[in-house]
Amino acid sequence: MPCYFLSLFKIPASVAAKIERLQRDFLWSGVGEGKRDHLVSWDVVCKPKANGGLGFGKIALRNVALLGKWLWRYPREGSTLWHKVILSIYGSHSNGWDANTIVRWSHRCPWKAIAQVFQEFSKFTRFVVGDGERIRFWEDLWWGDQPLGSQYPRLFRVVTDKNIPISSILGSTHPFSWNFNFRRNLSDPEIEEFECLMRSLDCLHVSFSIPDARSWSLSSSGLFTVKSFFLALSHCSGSHPVFPTKCVWKSQVPFKVKSFVWLVAYKKENTNDLLQLRRPYKALSPDICKLCMRNGESVDHLFLHCPLTMGLWHRLFQLAKMDWVPPRSISDMLSINYNDFGLSERGIVLWQAACIALIWVVWRERNARIF
Ligand SMILES: [Zn+2]
Repeated sequence: MPCYFLSLFKIPASVAAKIERLQRDFLWSGVGEGKRDHLVSWDVVCKPKANGGLGFGKIALRNVALLGKWLWRYPREGSTLWHKVILSIYGSHSNGWDANTIVRWSHRCPWKAIAQVFQEFSKFTRFVVGDGERIRFWEDLWWGDQPLGSQYPRLFRVVTDKNIPISSILGSTHPFSWNFNFRRNLSDPEIEEFECLMRSLDCLHVSFSIPDARSWSLSSSGLFTVKSFFLALSHCSGSHPVFPTKCVWKSQVPFKVKSFVWLVAYKKENTNDLLQLRRPYKALSPDICKLCMRNGESVDHLFLHCPLTMGLWHRLFQLAKMDWVPPRSISDMLSINYNDFGLSERGIVLWQAACIALIWVVWRERNARIF
């Protein structure tokens, strides 16, 4: 699916589902290699890497993130033709930066889909005060974590002009002479709120020489990135269990090995117990671990509790001169921070590589004994 299409149009749910099916098949089977098991659920695969997924992301959310880019570009490209066309058709938003987001037209048009992203998009934008001419004092997010109108609702109710820009309220020299225009004299609770507002604004620094700007709160540079918006949209949905992300993805081992350890951490690698569940009609031997020929083969047994593997773990910990009590599961093992090789970057990298190498070697040995 070309990004071009996703960045211009809202794709229907049925199309998104079809694309995701293609992605799923490609991930697990490659091209033209026949049908294979989908080892990990698609919802997990779609999560960001930091939350244990592969960072695929839902295609619908990627679509929204890409559409958001137009909202970012619109006020920054005032002299371009596309800006002028949109402005002439839809008019300006009351905030003076964006195009009108209320698109009443019933027929399908690209801007309608883009306008629908505005609510999500605007949560992550904030204004940076320069000359204060384009930022609305009460209604825009520029001071604190909410617009001042929401922070000080009593005062907001009695202001004459709710859309007034900062520059009309603020005098041009420091200390500022505030020019609030309230409809009537303030009551006691309103005066209290007013004092609170003035205290808060005490530390305001304004550079009158530069124009107001809008920044993107999700990136350190203040500039919009599709990736940051997409990640924020993905994070919004549901909580995430703890996953040993650092050990799996930050380790300095080949990608093939990383993806293998990712499957091991989820206990989804094709050990005989799982394989037997997936292929009930096949006579496998889930009760026999090929390494010790005694216990059944499961991920936790093979990579952690099997006497042969345990011997290897013990030798590794001996090298690091450390006593070790085996944890309950292999994912716990990958999550625990052992500082045995020191806290330095080098020590951590070495330790992660050693653990992963051990798991990889055990898998290769197991496969060599079976096939
Ligand atoms: Zn065993």
